[in-house]
This record gives sequence, structure tokens and C-alpha cells, in this order.
Amino acid sequence: MKNPGEQAACASALFPAREDRERWDDFLTRALHAADGRVAKGPVTPTLDLGSFRSELKRFDFQAPRPLDDLLSWTIERMEHGLVHVNHPRYFGLFNPAPTFPAQCADRIAATFNPQLATSTTSPVAVEIEAHVIRAIARRAGLPAESAGHFTSGGSEANCTAVICALTQANPAFAMEGARSFRGAPVFYVSKESHLAWVKIAHQVGIGRSAARLIATDGSGRMDAKALAKAVDADRLEGCVPFMIAATAGTSNAGMIDPLAECAEIARKYGLWYHVDAAWGGALIASDRLRGVLAGIELADSTTIDAHKWFATTMGCGMIITKHAAVLSNAFQVSVSFMPSNFAGLDPYVTTMQWSRRFLGLRLFLSLASAGWAGYGEHVERSLELIALLKEQLSPRGWRIANDSLVGVLCVEPPPGHGDPRSVVGRVLASGRAWVAVAKFEGRDVIRACVTSGETTPDDIAELVNALQAAA
Ligand SMILES: *Cc1c(COP(=O)(O)O)cnc(C)c1O
Repeated sequence: MKNPGEQAACASALFPAREDRERWDDFLTRALHAADGRVAKGPVTPTLDLGSFRSELKRFDFQAPRPLDDLLSWTIERMEHGLVHVNHPRYFGLFNPAPTFPAQCADRIAATFNPQLATSTTSPVAVEIEAHVIRAIARRAGLPAESAGHFTSGGSEANCTAVICALTQANPAFAMEGARSFRGAPVFYVSKESHLAWVKIAHQVGIGRSAARLIATDGSGRMDAKALAKAVDADRLEGCVPFMIAATAGTSNAGMIDPLAECAEIARKYGLWYHVDAAWGGALIASDRLRGVLAGIELADSTTIDAHKWFATTMGCGMIITKHAAVLSNAFQVSVSFMPSNFAGLDPYVTTMQWSRRFLGLRLFLSLASAGWAGYGEHVERSLELIALLKEQLSPRGWRIANDSLVGVLCVEPPPGHGDPRSVVGRVLASGRAWVAVAKFEGRDVIRACVTSGETTPDDIAELVNALQAAA
């Protein structure tokens, strides 16, 4: 067998012989499993010295080729010691999941065939699989049968897609003339506790950051419906053009769910597009016991659900679903001579923001097909049980519970006289025993712990409690 490192600068390093690929694939599979096993037993936080790593990186001048075997081992070793490990059972973090195994398999398959999902003509099987999963999610969320949608890079792209659809629906002239085609400044409404990618989205679509109206919350992290209606009235009086309300089902900091039905009613009354950002909380649709928590999502004109949050696929994998399939084509249609087809509603490049497109949907397809709704239901219910357990163990020790979430996240404050959230979190992270975050909830700093791994156990919760106690 040739060692590609010994060959002179040569493209065969890029396209090695079959037998070399197989050998490296086998090596990679075993090395990754071994590393993953070690990660679960080691610290959650990075131990590598970033200064020396940067010096090491400088030596990669890309002149002399290096053997791939060495490069693979080097990469795995540095990743193992140079990351916050989201697949660690004591990563109680921002919603970055320990990925499902079927999703990891899907990535491997997608990487091998590397299908281009811009058109159905070139990748019919892949496009059909994605459309099938989107329909299944829409049905499960209670959205009408004619709903359509697609996979996105994540929740931000999905929410941006919703804004473009809402603007196009509100004013068809927006397509040709942009924001100036509105008779006043177009504005939309989210709560101040919403995911503030909304502000970036407003900037990106050209309506300006101030178009994202941040509505007051009710003291418990949920959009205040009265304040919302008042803001819409006030904007109309001032000559602005309200076009969308986006309620959040599972706020990032505290997992709170805006009053979905009330927000829907206000949107209906004023003739506004109604979006539900369920990027994280959307996975509750999987549980027969818990899906009622999302009541009102079925009223949405569009909804965002991230597969890479609680559905735990690899990143990034979001979804946008709308009951107005035609508006996707209105917003994203284009015609160019070199594309093999131009089918509205079928070819993703004429119904989505992206052009070249990776086969993302296979991750959720394989996960959902192998676990079934029941399997995913169990997965989300388990997170809630573990959070309930954490609450049970912290309350009697004097920790103050700040939020009342139905989405599997706990925000707590240390017992009086035992330090502030920021310093406690700093000490927990330095210990490497667990990963938790500092977040602002209703204007106060809190410690945020979220169960994001399907392999977290009650023992890990006990270890988190010990780590918190030791740090406070
Ligand atoms: C994560 C999240 C987003 C942003 O999604 P990305 O996938 O990170 O782009 C938006 N809204 C909510 C509610 C989220 O949880």
C-alpha cells in the first residue's frame, strides 16, 4: 500500500485508492468511538492551551504534504481536548445536542454520495425524503395537509425565511421594490426574551434592526399579549406597517412559551402573518403526553422547528414549515438557463434561500424512522424528568428557582450569601465537572441548566448538584 505522505505533491492525496480509503475509514471509525468514550469520562471543558495550539497551527503552511493518517489522529486528539463537549452527559448547555447515532450515519451517507439538492431532477430520492419528513412534522404539529417547507441551516435561516414570506405576502411589490414599496416602515413583533437573531434578520432583509419590535414580557418570561396589541396599535397610528407577529415556543434563556393562541388572535385581528418560533420546544410534538403544551402552534402561518435542537440531529439542521406553500415560490422564484429544471414547489432552489444544498433531512428521517414518534417522545419526556429531579434536589438546599418552564430547562439562583450566578458558573466550568451557563431572565442573572443529551442520567444530575454546591 502506498503511503500518500511519501508521494510528491500530488492530487492522489485528495482522491486516494479505494483500499486506502477503506483502511482510513476503518481507522477513523475506531478512533472516533474511542475518543467519544474518553470524552464522556473526562472534563466537559477544554484543557488544551490555546497559545501553544495557535503556534502549532502556524506550522501548517501547506507546502509539504503530510500523511492523512497523522492528520486524522492529530485532529481527533486536539478536538478531544480543545472543545466544550456537547456530547458529554454533563453538558447542561445551550441547546447543542449530543447527536443521535442515526443522524451521524446520515452525515456519512450524505458525504459519500454528496447529492446536490438544488433540484429534484438531479436528486429525486433525496428531495422526496426531505419533503416526506417535512410533511410528517407538519401533520404532527397539527398544521394543514397542504403545508410545505424545507430544511435550513438552522433556526435563524428558518426565521429569516418566515420574515421574507411575511413581507412578500403583506405586499407583493416587496419582491421587486423592497422595503420602500411599503407605505410606511414595515415592523414585526417578538418578545424581548425571544432569540435576538431576529434583530440580525431585520438588518439582513433590509427593513432595519429597529423593525424588530421587542415586546415586554409578563414577569415570567412570556410575551405580554396586552403590550403586544398596544404596540401594534401605536405603530399603526404612527404610520408604520405591522406585518408579522412571531411568538416563541421555548425561549432560549428559560424555555418559556408565549401565549400562542392569544398571539394568534391578535395577528388575526390585525391581519398579520403569525409565526411560531419553536426552534427548540417544537420537539414536544413527539410526546403524546406533552404535545398539548404547544397548543396554538397549529394556528401559525409558519413555524420554525430545529432538528438540531431537541430532535438531536447533527448541526445545523433547521426546518421552516408554512401553510402557504405558494408564498415560498413567490418569495424565492428565479429562472436561470443552466439549471436542469424549474419546478415551483418541487425544486428547492426556487422555494428556499439556499441554492446548492446539502442533504440535511436524512438526519431526521433516519432518526425518526428508527426511533418512531414514541422513541422521540420518550427522549423529550426524559429531559423533563431529569430537570424535575434537579429542581427537587436544589430547592431544599436553598437554591431559588427562577423559571417555570415546560421545556426542560432550569434557571436558578444560588442560596442567599453563596455567591452570584456568574462567579458560581465560572467555578463550575473551571472544575470541568459540568457545563452550565449564565443567562439573563427577566432582567436578572441566573444559572441556566438544560438537559441536552439523551444519555444524561440521574447520577449526572447528582454530580451537577455537587458541582453547584461546591461552587456556591
Ligand atoms: C436556537 C434558536 C434559534 C436560532 O436557531 P439556530 O439554529 O441557532 O440558527 C432561534 N430561536 C429559538 C427559539 C432558538 O431556540
